[in-house]
Amino acid sequence: MKFGGTSVGDEKCIARVVDILAAHRERGDELAVVVSAMTGVTDQLIATAQEVICSCEYPPIEALIHALRSRHMKVLETVAPDYLEEVGVYIDDRLGKLKNILTAVHTLRELTPRSRDYIISFGERLSAPIVSAALNQAGINSTVMDGCEAGIITNSCHGGAVALPESYSRIQSRVAPLLSECVPVIMGFMGCSEQGFVTTLGRSGSDYTGSIIGAGINADEIWIWTDVDGVMTTDPRMIPEARVIPSISFLEMMELSYFGAKVLHPKSIEPAMMKDITVRVKNTFNPATPGTAVVRTAHRERRVVKALSIIRKVALLTIGGAQMAGRPGVARAIFSALAEREVNVMLISQGSSEANITLVIDEDHLMNAIEGLNEIQKRGYVREITFDKDIVVIAVVGAGMAGTPGTSGRIFSALGEAGVNVMMITQGSSEVNVSFVVKEGEGQRAVQVLHDEYRLSEGCNE
Ligand code: ADP
Ligand code: ASP
Ligand code: MG
Repeated sequence: MKFGGTSVGDEKCIARVVDILAAHRERGDELAVVVSAMTGVTDQLIATAQEVICSCEYPPIEALIHALRSRHMKVLETVAPDYLEEVGVYIDDRLGKLKNILTAVHTLRELTPRSRDYIISFGERLSAPIVSAALNQAGINSTVMDGCEAGIITNSCHGGAVALPESYSRIQSRVAPLLSECVPVIMGFMGCSEQGFVTTLGRSGSDYTGSIIGAGINADEIWIWTDVDGVMTTDPRMIPEARVIPSISFLEMMELSYFGAKVLHPKSIEPAMMKDITVRVKNTFNPATPGTAVVRTAHRERRVVKALSIIRKVALLTIGGAQMAGRPGVARAIFSALAEREVNVMLISQGSSEANITLVIDEDHLMNAIEGLNEIQKRGYVREITFDKDIVVIAVVGAGMAGTPGTSGRIFSALGEAGVNVMMITQGSSEVNVSFVVKEGEGQRAVQVLHDEYRLSEGCNE
């Protein structure tokens, strides 16, 4: 069971978490727990790491340490009074380490990806011992482990590391034997590289930890506890009438989360899928509702489109030039140049005249992409490069779209009737997803139009 930041955000939330876990233990379930940092803590750590490298004389290190100490100690006092001293010493020790590394970064004015990862892993280092102490206080035997101790070994891609296959057998031998005796509380979001350096798994990466641990111990199910009733037809913060989807396939979920559905991290599907373990998304604040089951083959639904997601902070890049027509190797040159600069390409479309290639990339990678493409332009086969940062991608997801003629027609007619201009369209050959690009200002309306067109707020036989 993985509990997200809002689920462990304060003493009341942690008390709920303890109640949920206690109920499962009483039923005889063996449990491994993964926790995120308390809400907002990772953001604070990232902001401070960035601030200390600027030239200011008095960086806000003391202020951060003080704020973290008072927030965490206040929660600890309430949820685990008998462990105040023991865990208090532990928290102070961690905060001392955090202060040292921030001071070193400030002195050098140099924040490497490795030191940044170490710094931003402290949110989970502080929250997990408190949750574990709260369990002990409630009479549930518990121990705490960091990601590395639990067995998660990753590649060295700091800030977005991926678990290596040997992690699973290590987790099996380190975590599984504990389960009959106690509830291990594992710090989410982190692992370590083969050289032993702390790595982080990408923002919202505790979901991924939950899934890696679940796969490692061969769990019956992986439960992701969050602040909504399950995976919904779209982000309920944007479309309030969004509805919970009772069951969704791994493939559909992967598409949805890749294209922005924050409720589950995209990487968290793969470990579960590999071992065919059901992932259940549940609400910590409403545990009685069944939530969503993410499974290999979802219940057959009559509806064609199941959910919509929107991804922001992306850019549309158009590479044009008649010289490209029929010339082998142009696409290779373009994608090699982008790959060399670590530009993540999200969508690709090429017209049949071959005169244009249009791409969607992360907005953060735009400058690198343009740099790479300028090099190719010098070779003469690309005439012009244009970009637009004022766009969003919308993904329309549903396994029922495969083999249903007329789906694209219906999607784009509805948008056309609503006067939404579509700038690019792609459909993967799996036919689980149709994605398109619109102006940022039209994004929410486009989602609303399709949510209404497919009546996603209405339940059906599922
Ligand atoms: P946690 O802190 O538990 O990891 P997150 O904030 O990362 O929680 O994810 C939960 C949030 O994801 C919800 O509050 C909701 O606003 C957002 N969200 C985006 N798309 C969806 C969707 N399709 N279904 C449910 N929630 C979604
Ligand atoms: N604490 C990390 C973050 O905020 C990981 C997570 O919460 O899943 O990104
Ligand atoms: Mg999350």
